[in-house]
Amino acid sequence: MRLQEYQGKELFRRVGIPVADGKVAHSVTEAEEIARELGCPVVVKAQVLVGGRGKAGGIKLAQAPEEARAHAEAILNMTIKGERVRKVLVTKAVEIEREFYLSITIDRAAKKPIVIFSAEGGMEIEELAKAHPEKIVRFHVNPLIGLQAYQVRTALYQAGVAPTLMRPLSDVFFKLYQAFVQYHAQLVEINPLAVADGKLIAVDSKFIIDDDDVPAELAGWEEEELAGSPEERAAKQAGLQYVKLDGTIGIIGNGAGLVMATLDVVALKGGRPANFLDIGGGANAEVMKKALQIVLSDPNVRGLLINIFGGITRCDEVARGLVATQQELGIRVPMVVRLTGTNETEGRAILEAHGITPMADMEEGAAEIVRQVELKAF
Ligand code: GDP
Ligand code: MN
Repeated sequence: MRLQEYQGKELFRRVGIPVADGKVAHSVTEAEEIARELGCPVVVKAQVLVGGRGKAGGIKLAQAPEEARAHAEAILNMTIKGERVRKVLVTKAVEIEREFYLSITIDRAAKKPIVIFSAEGGMEIEELAKAHPEKIVRFHVNPLIGLQAYQVRTALYQAGVAPTLMRPLSDVFFKLYQAFVQYHAQLVEINPLAVADGKLIAVDSKFIIDDDDVPAELAGWEEEELAGSPEERAAKQAGLQYVKLDGTIGIIGNGAGLVMATLDVVALKGGRPANFLDIGGGANAEVMKKALQIVLSDPNVRGLLINIFGGITRCDEVARGLVATQQELGIRVPMVVRLTGTNETEGRAILEAHGITPMADMEEGAAEIVRQVELKAF
């Protein structure tokens, strides 16, 4: 789970890493009010989960509340690297004297956290690694004993940090490591970690929290922040595994392996899958309906292939869900259903009674949907 900048900064605050005052705005009026409240200059920042917002025009300085409003107008609804901007962070501008880079992530090969620091912050670490690899300092942390003061000192010496900044920088290292551990992070990054008015301040934040171990303190932080396409958000909310692809044949199956195999077979027959969607084991009519709604909300979908292997999942339940949804939504694209396993006879009978031809074989089913979609295209 990735956190938005404003959420990451809230966690920085909790561990004592300084950040500028700021608030999130969903509208231009709100942005203007916050700017007035904080006092200008302020920075209006797009809250999206992709990096490089500055370069994309998603970060703007405002000298007056009216200007903050104008910037919010430009930034809200902007799309940055495919992600729609739904809110902005309005934050007090800081006068940056220098920029550092600091991050902690997991080095899976070493099975340890790794701290990465550079006295040249601001640009993205990938670019920095290309332009000035010698300016990046890295070291591992033994997770059993935690970050050690000598490690931080060595790194700061290596990076050529001025003596006056040693102590305050070291303080930020320890607080960031605390945040990394306390919030079960896979990555924490401050870029830039700025010097303003002689003091350190985190101007940006990046947090990736381990999905399998989200701390109770962060429960609910994701709901409002689900990234991805509208279909992906709806699927996540419905508890379905959905991945949007760029083809035209919508795919629904039960079990990740079966769905992957279905994608392969469709591709093999010359079709292009529009998505991956796994309804999981034991899916009922209601789940089938939700799955269909999600797949059909993708405007690229020209045909549907439903591939169900009934184990715990009962074919008659799936068939009922399909028929109910077809009646309710009026599915207009061709649909091929491969149904086999538990209660398949009942399931197929339900489909046939409603004019849907069931298929027993996956390969035939894939060939059939590809044929029907091609026929429609001419
Ligand atoms: P990113 O582009 O998504 O990494 O967003 P950042 O929050 O890191 O902002 C990009 C750049 O904008 C930073 O590297 C800074 O140089 C600049 N910036 C952001 N906030 C401020 C601010 O308050 N004052 C100044 N002077 N520059 C800022
Ligand atoms: Mn940044």
